[in-house]
Amino acid sequence: MPVWVRGAEEAWLSGPLFRSQKLAITALGNSASTGTQGIEGEIAYFESFDALVAAPDAQIKGKIVFVDHKMQPTQDGSGYGYYGRGRFTGPNVAAKKGAIAIVIRSIGTDNHRNPHTGVTNFEAGVKPIPAGAISNPDADQLVRLWRRPMPARSDAPPLIKMKLILTPQNLGTKQSGNVIADVPGRDPTASPVIIACHLDSWDLGTGAIDDAAGCGIITAAATHVMSAGQPRRTIRILWAGAEEVGVFGGKAYFDAHGKEKHAVALESDFGADRVWRVDFKLPDSAKALSDRIAAAVMPFGVVRGKQPASGGADIGALVQAGVPAIDLAQDGTRYFDIHHTPDDTLDKVDPAQLRQNVVVWTAVLAILANSSDTELP
Ligand SMILES: [Zn+2]
Repeated sequence: MPVWVRGAEEAWLSGPLFRSQKLAITALGNSASTGTQGIEGEIAYFESFDALVAAPDAQIKGKIVFVDHKMQPTQDGSGYGYYGRGRFTGPNVAAKKGAIAIVIRSIGTDNHRNPHTGVTNFEAGVKPIPAGAISNPDADQLVRLWRRPMPARSDAPPLIKMKLILTPQNLGTKQSGNVIADVPGRDPTASPVIIACHLDSWDLGTGAIDDAAGCGIITAAATHVMSAGQPRRTIRILWAGAEEVGVFGGKAYFDAHGKEKHAVALESDFGADRVWRVDFKLPDSAKALSDRIAAAVMPFGVVRGKQPASGGADIGALVQAGVPAIDLAQDGTRYFDIHHTPDDTLDKVDPAQLRQNVVVWTAVLAILANSSDTELP
């Protein structure tokens, strides 16, 4: 995996009408360094990622881009893809248009002074620029200052500038790893059920919700199924490495095992809050199987979804290649309050909701691991 490590991270707003205002900032993964002296520049404000994409280069060249657009919470977490573009590709877009740096409003739904980190990627041939995220309250303050009326004099200094010090480093390619365990099934000819989570987490917190909880949930479920008697199919547990920086573990698993037959794939990577919906992407032969699963999880408050399961990052390549998938969708209403922040700590895990996850996963896994070859590949 390519290894990028955080350095100093500080930022201030300054202007002729107010004292310097310190910002709660963190660097995005793969950010370039400003150097220890930092950089200072005028701000080019964009109310959304789309506005940044639409802007002419002249509006951006030599400036520090700021992308606003506060992420809204949703139960299914679907806002992440939409709002997340500001982080995933905003820095690449800003770099191509000649920005000296980019700072985004955190991709998060809380109102605490915790910036949310996460990976960003620059296209080959695009020189990376310093890229950071500020907390939501700091972004609110920046916007208030930005919206102050400009003085009438055309030679007046800009009302708001940003000073930025980010000194991360790239350390080159280092070894990461997956951990794979099998609960052996009693039928050696049956293909395995694969369940996945990821072992790595962002450095600001401890990774309790992203994704220690997921690893705990799937491991507990596999243990419960194993304790109830040997299942027909092997249960393969994939504790993937290096997910956060680009799904390197999931890709490595696919490269090594993608040609082997898998009955079905599931992933837990959305915190520890309760499972509320089950989605399927199964062959037609599994109609009765999906009905059995929906009935088994119904007593725990889980409804049957209408959309096909999409899998998850670490099983993504398998699902793309046609392996059937089931999603046990968790309540994401508060997930992005904590995601990739210093607040991702064990006290945020609600034991009652964690237990509901384990119960639901155990019920589903027991059915899948004992399914027949006429139902799943
Ligand atoms: Zn994760």
